Amino acid sequence: MSERQTLTFLSRRLEQHGLQPKTKYGQNFLIDLNLLDMLHTTAKVNSNDVVLEIGTGMGSLSTRMAPHAGWVITVEIDSQLQQIAAEELREFSNVTMLQVDALKNKNTLQPSLIEEVRTQMAAIPNAKFKLVANLPYNVATPIISNLMQEVPLVDRMVVTIQKELAERIVAPPSTKDYSALTIWMQSQCECRIVRIMPPSVFWPRPKVDSAILEVIPRPALRDRIVDRDYFHEKVRALFFHRRKFLRSQLAVAMQDELTKPQVDEILAKLELEPNLRAEQLSVPQIIDMLEACRTAASSPK
Ligand code: SAH
Repeated sequence: MSERQTLTFLSRRLEQHGLQPKTKYGQNFLIDLNLLDMLHTTAKVNSNDVVLEIGTGMGSLSTRMAPHAGWVITVEIDSQLQQIAAEELREFSNVTMLQVDALKNKNTLQPSLIEEVRTQMAAIPNAKFKLVANLPYNVATPIISNLMQEVPLVDRMVVTIQKELAERIVAPPSTKDYSALTIWMQSQCECRIVRIMPPSVFWPRPKVDSAILEVIPRPALRDRIVDRDYFHEKVRALFFHRRKFLRSQLAVAMQDELTKPQVDEILAKLELEPNLRAEQLSVPQIIDMLEACRTAASSPK
């Protein structure tokens, strides 16, 4: 099937239902079949996998994955699109379709998603949980970052997102993209841009370039962070005032828990110059620094 046919197919399906792509839901359908394949193969979808797809659209990615996956859970906010997708997915007996907002709020995924993941994983020996999706761009950041707080933890994420967001996630220190999100993801995962994609691979064309991002959580990395909620909160506080020096960035982040002399003591002990900026520290340096703060704050005065 050529690109052209896919575009024709999708636009005809919408037309039959009297619909048009909805910008408010970030409806940009992937019309390049090679890239659809690339998502599927990069994720190494196999029969042990419970695959979560957020943004079913008209079902093209689910249809690609369902014959290979143990189970596919696909989530779509738009009931009209979900009806179209249901027709495409009818032939599969290993697909759950959920018509719901994937986010309960900015900081929480919709609990029914994870409940369904747990249910399906329980039925598959050695099940692995993967997120494979052409994500709706307006909710991509909270979906990716919140997923790192969930149990079960994803084994792998392979997602198309805005190129800008992908670059922020893989950014090295001392760049403008190096941010709280970078630290949150890189402190727990290997993150890699698989492919940059021009607007033309989607219909309708988005205004920006996109990227396929692969994220693989690594227990050895995650285990260095003793309290992940605490770490997440402090990393965000640390990067809130980007132009300040490390000493004040850390003092502000720790203001309710540590005195300035205690902050200075921690920086000295770790041989971190107070007039650096947080963005100049490597991920392991930030982990060590915040762990030292957490320990100091929780030890009896
Ligand atoms: N996977 C399909 C569609 C991608 S477009 C394809 O590649 O062709 C993104 C899809 O996410 C749209 O169908 C949109 O309606 C859906 N969507 C947008 N916001 C959502 C949300 N908060 N929860 C679930 N689905 C959402």
